[in-house]
Amino acid sequence: QNITIAIDGYSSTGKSTIAKQLAKALGYVYVDTGAMYRAVTLFAIKNGFIGGKRDNINALVKLLPKISLKFVFNEKLGFAEMYLNDENVEKEIRGMDVSRQVSKIAAVEEVRYKLVDMQKKMGEEKGIVMDGRDIGTVVFPNAELKIFMTASPEARATRRYKELLDRQEKVSYAEVLQNVEDRDYRDSHREISPLRKANDAIEFDNSDMGLKEQFERIHNYALR
Ligand code: C5P
Repeated sequence: QNITIAIDGYSSTGKSTIAKQLAKALGYVYVDTGAMYRAVTLFAIKNGFIGGKRDNINALVKLLPKISLKFVFNEKLGFAEMYLNDENVEKEIRGMDVSRQVSKIAAVEEVRYKLVDMQKKMGEEKGIVMDGRDIGTVVFPNAELKIFMTASPEARATRRYKELLDRQEKVSYAEVLQNVEDRDYRDSHREISPLRKANDAIEFDNSDMGLKEQFERIHNYALR
């Protein structure tokens, strides 16, 4: 019996690593909703609507219908990559430029309507693991399994910092920690769909847990 699995939580808690492994083990589809918010943010940056002197959110909202987002499965990598208007933007959306602006774009009502609508459609067929900030609260309030991941800010910034170093980004640990904390603050304090644990979600603190243990525990929840 296929189910819907919602994984939410603060930034860089390792949601996507676990969600990917889980989807693979269960033969489910994995959807990284953060990639969608990041792609819209990249679009806004490229068009000069954000990140310059003055933001122009209205102009972005007008162009929203023209933004096409697609996940294309990459057999070699074993996961889906994000395409923005038919261009592979998987690498670009992970950079600091996008990370600095994304929470602002994610607080725009019209952006959320568009993306949540797409996400709900993706979930019409059961057998999906979706991660984000509002999956258990807004996208799939009836998901059979909801996980809310937490970890100390330091544990999270360390993870994220390593990822960025691997990508050879020039960034300091302090800046990464600041970005993680800023995003969490903005994501939890925005008016629309703020980041919070769904009442029926299992809180999962992985500060002191290796990947294997995390996977095993969550996999067990899924099999119950
Ligand atoms: O998951 P990731 O860290 O890539 O998400 C980037 C940003 O996208 C978050 O900090 C948040 O502002 C936004 N987001 C959101 N709702 C989601 C997924 C991501 O608001 N479901």
